[in-house]
Formats: sequence, structure tokens, C-alpha cells
Amino acid sequence: MKIYSLLLDKTYNPLTLLDYKKAFLLEYTQRANVLEYHPEFVIKSTYKSFKVPIVLKTNTLTKNFYKNIPTRYNIYIRDNFICGYCGKACSDSEITVDHIIPASKGGQWTWDNLITACELCNMKKSDNIIMPVYIKPHKPQYFSLLLKEHINKIDKITLDIIKPYCQQYLKDIS
Ligand SMILES: [Zn+2]
Repeated sequence: MKIYSLLLDKTYNPLTLLDYKKAFLLEYTQRANVLEYHPEFVIKSTYKSFKVPIVLKTNTLTKNFYKNIPTRYNIYIRDNFICGYCGKACSDSEITVDHIIPASKGGQWTWDNLITACELCNMKKSDNIIMPVYIKPHKPQYFSLLLKEHINKIDKITLDIIKPYCQQYLKDIS
């Protein structure tokens, strides 16, 4: 388990998850206001201990410039590691990313043209164009994907604290 902190924009919308040390630095440099602290976890220095901010609201960012890029791993997360063609849960050794419109036919490396596929389906599909049935390729919302990637790594206490701020994105995950 790792300690993450949630950064909100000025209207209380989730911007991103931060390493708690970065969150602490944002508080320390007054670039964010802390709304919630971790009730147990503290940062200790030689003489003092500091509370760890878990939810912060930015003072500086007016625009959300956080973006996901369609890396292989992000495609897998978006697709829940499931093959878009046969619906199978892919193991590490058989998981691939497939171009729906093949690169040889001008298909691009973009969110809506990429899909998780098992090795077998990828091989069978070859240079044909087949629409996946199990997954709808789409550009995910930045925070939805981030939360999906990290939700199992966030400690229980933190998760309970940040959940109310993330309701709209939690819906996307299940
Ligand atoms: Zn498959």
C-alpha cells in the first residue's frame, strides 16, 4: 500500500492523485489548501512530525492540463485486461494491443483505434478490420483511468476519505 493524496481543482473536481510527499510540498509552499489530513500517517523529521495531506484544493491551477496518453499499459487498464474480440481475461504473456484499423491500412495509434487483444485473436485478425464486441474503444477521462489504475494500491483509510470527492469517477470503474 502506498499513501496517495488527491488534488482537487478550485471547483472541487479531482485533478490527479499525487505521491503524499508532493502533496506535502504543495501545502508547504502554499500552492494548495488542505481539506483533509491522514488521521494516522505522519512524516517525521528529527524534531517534528507533520500531518500528511490527503485531500488538497489547488490555489494555482486554473486549467486541468493532466492528460492520459494511450500507452500500451493505459489501453490495458482502460479495457480491464480483457480481450476486446473474445472477452477473455489476458495473462501477461498473451496480452497485446491491436490496431482495429491496421497500421498497414492507415490506422492510427489513438484511443479509439486501439484495443486490448489476446495473442490468438490478434494473430487470427491479422490485417483485417474486425470490430471488437467486448470493449468499446474510447478516450477515457483522465481521472477515471488514474483511479482505476491506483484504486487497489490506495490504503483503506485514504480511500474512505477521498471517495466522497470522486463519486462521479467511481461509477466508471466498476
Ligand atoms: Zn481474444
